[in-house]
Amino acid sequence: MLGAVDKLTALLGSARVLTGTDISEDDWHDESLVALWHAPDAVVLPHSAAEVAEIIAIARDFAMPVTARGSGTGLAGACVPRAGGVLIAFREMSAILEIDVDNQVAVVQPGVNLRALDEATARHGLVYPVFPGESSASLGGSVATNAGGMRAVKYGVTRHQVLGLEAVLGTGEVIRTGGKFVKATSGYDLTQLIVGSEGTLAIVTEATLRLYPRQAHAATVLAPFRTVADIAAAVPRIVQSGIAPMILEYIDVMSMAAITAARGLELGIDAAVKEAALAYLVVVLESRDSGRLDEDIESLGDLITTLGALDVYVLPPRAAADLIEARERAFFAAKAAGANEIVDTVVPRAQIPEFLARVQLIAQDTGSMVVGCGHAGDGNVHLSVFQSDPERLEQVLRSVFAAGAALGGAVSGEHGIGTDKRGHFLALEDPAKLALMARIKAAFDPDGILNPGAMLGPAPALVEAGAG
Ligand SMILES: Cc1cc2nc3c(=O)[nH]c(=O)nc-3n(C[C@H](O)[C@H](O)[C@H](O)COP(=O)(O)OP(=O)(O)OC[C@H]3O[C@@H](n4cnc5c(N)ncnc54)[C@H](O)[C@@H]3O)c2cc1C
Repeated sequence: MLGAVDKLTALLGSARVLTGTDISEDDWHDESLVALWHAPDAVVLPHSAAEVAEIIAIARDFAMPVTARGSGTGLAGACVPRAGGVLIAFREMSAILEIDVDNQVAVVQPGVNLRALDEATARHGLVYPVFPGESSASLGGSVATNAGGMRAVKYGVTRHQVLGLEAVLGTGEVIRTGGKFVKATSGYDLTQLIVGSEGTLAIVTEATLRLYPRQAHAATVLAPFRTVADIAAAVPRIVQSGIAPMILEYIDVMSMAAITAARGLELGIDAAVKEAALAYLVVVLESRDSGRLDEDIESLGDLITTLGALDVYVLPPRAAADLIEARERAFFAAKAAGANEIVDTVVPRAQIPEFLARVQLIAQDTGSMVVGCGHAGDGNVHLSVFQSDPERLEQVLRSVFAAGAALGGAVSGEHGIGTDKRGHFLALEDPAKLALMARIKAAFDPDGILNPGAMLGPAPALVEAGAG
C-alpha cells in the first residue's frame, strides 16, 4: 500500500508536497512565545477546496493530524504542526476572487493577507475594517482566530464581517455557508461556529467578507493621564458620548517607553506632563467630512480634559501613523525586552480598572513584572508578563485568567486558545459547555484529525463513550 506522503504526492505532484529538509523552519511555528516548535511530516500546498477534501480523505485513512496554516502570525501556538501530521499551507490559494462593490463584499481565498485585501478594497473606496496588529496575517487565519485588533471598538471583530464560508469538514465534505447578505434565519449558523474555531472544526477554503465605505479623514488624539485607572474610567464616558471612535487604546508608561524607543519616536509631549503621566490614551476618529471631524476632535478634547487628561495632543499625520504602527508592534517590543508570556484577557470595559488592580497585586505577590497596553474600548487588555521562573509564571497566568473570569471576562479576547492557553481555558470553562463543544467537534470532525491539541484537543472521553 502507498504511504500517506506517496498518496499526497500522487494527488498534488511533488512540487506541492514538501518533506524533510524541503520544509522551511517557518512552517514549524507561529509567533507564540512559549509553544514548542514542531516539524510536520509533510507540508501540502492545495489549489482548491476539492484538493483539500482529498487531502483530508488521505489524512483520515492514515489517522494523520491536519493543521491549517495561514501566515503563522498567531500568538497562541495554534498552527504548530502535530507529531506525524500534515500541514496545509495556503500560500498558493491567495487570490481575491471578487470585490463586489454593489453588495459591499469581498470574496477571498484563505491565503490572501490583510495588506493585499486593504490595497484592493482601497481602489474601490471600501475597507475591510479588521486590522489586527499584523497585516501579513491571512484571512483564513483571521477567520479561524476571530481576529480583533484596534478598530473593533467601532466595527466589531472578524466574526461580525464574515458573511459566508466555503469549508472542508473533518469528514472531507465541502460545505458553503451564508452568502452575500447580512441576514439569514435559515437553520443553525454554521458560519459563526467555524469562525474562531482555530482549525479544529473545518478548513476554510473561501470567505465572503463584509466591506464598509472608506472614510477620507482621520485624526489621532493622544492624551496622557495620571493613571491607567483614570483612562479606564474615562473610556465608558467616551463611548457613551456618541463620538464613535475608530480606535480607543490605552498604553501604560512602561509600554509607551518601550514602543517609542523601539521606533525612535518623539511625540513632543511636554516634559512636566511626561513626568506626571503613568498612562496614555490614544483615540483615532474618522469621518467622511473634515469639518465634522474637527468638531469631533474639539468635543473629544473637552470631554477628556474634564475626565482628567493632563494634556491633549492632536498628532501630525506622520507621528500619528508612527504611533499606531508602534502600538501594533508592541508585541515585538515586549519580546525584545524579554517578556516570558503575553496575555490578551478580555473583561467588560467598565471592569478594566478592577482587573488591572488585581493584576498588579498578583504581580507583587509573585515578584513578577506585568505591563501592558490594550484595546480599552472593548475591554481587551494585553499584558506582557516578565517572570522567568516557569512555576511562578504558571501561577501568574492562572491567577490573571481567574481574575478575568471572576469579573465576567474570558481567557482570550482575540489571539485564541491554541495550545498555549488550553489548560487554563479547560480549567476555567463550564464543564457542560466544554462537553457540548466536544460533541460539536465530533460532529464536524469524527476522527479528531483537525488540529488536535488546540483549544479542546482530541476528545478521548467521547471516543470511549462511542459518540465519535
Ligand atoms: C505583532 C502582532 C500583533 C498582533 N495583533 C493582533 C491583534 O491586535 N488582534 C488579533 O486578533 N490578533 C493579533 N495578532 C495575532 C495574529 O495576527 C492573528 O491571530 C491572525 O489572525 C492570525 O492569522 P495567520 O494567518 O497568521 O494565522 P496562523 O497563525 O497561520 O493560524 C492561526 C490559526 O488559524 C488556523 N487556520 C489558519 N488558516 C486556516 C484555514 N484556512 N482554515 C482553518 N483554520 C485555519 C490555524 O490552524 C491556527 O489555528 C498579532 C500578531 C502579531 C505577530
